[in-house]
Amino acid sequence: MDSLFDTAEGGEDRGERLSELARQVSVCTKCELAMSRTNTVFGSGDPYSPLMLVGEGPGENEDATGLPFVGRAGKLLDDILAAVSLTRDDVYLTNIVKCRAAVEENGRLRNRQPRTGEVNACNPYLQAQIEAIKPEIILCLGGPAAKTLIDKNFRITKDRGKWYEVFGAKAMATFHPAYVLRQHGEDLQNTKRLVWKDIQNVYAEYQKAMERRG
Ligand code: SF4
Repeated sequence: MDSLFDTAEGGEDRGERLSELARQVSVCTKCELAMSRTNTVFGSGDPYSPLMLVGEGPGENEDATGLPFVGRAGKLLDDILAAVSLTRDDVYLTNIVKCRAAVEENGRLRNRQPRTGEVNACNPYLQAQIEAIKPEIILCLGGPAAKTLIDKNFRITKDRGKWYEVFGAKAMATFHPAYVLRQHGEDLQNTKRLVWKDIQNVYAEYQKAMERRG
């Protein structure tokens, strides 16, 4: 997409640009996920934050509410942010796809990973969000977000916790909260320890960015 902001340039503020983009997403039918969604889930938080968090896509609760990161994974994300004295209002939250990817099993819809074609179809919206928000730090939550934004060959277990440069921002990936919740026993403790270490490093960069802003 050449520019999603052709009509939005010329003095409109960031919130207005994002509102226009969200309106475009709300009626988007560029991939088959449009057929089964209840709501699009565009993003939430502070569009002026230096820190943007990017997850995989809406699940059942997000599809029902239109908000990113609600339910158990959202609660865990709140806890992760609280560990460094941040709330979701201090950051901007979004996903690589704006509609729920699900598959029917035994008469129920179960979340599935978005397919490559769906991610590619939705990617211009994410790019436009980054273009509008101009984050200084991007934290990818989970492998699919890291593969989309950092490197298509990204391996979350090997490459998480390292810094990369993406769209002029420092970017890191850590485990998705939903992945953390699927762990048990010692694996759960180890995964949590790594995520908490990653968020500490991200927060150090956030503090530097806030200091630069005075
Ligand atoms: S996932 Fe993205 S590209 Fe696909 S229909 Fe939803 S908004 Fe459009």
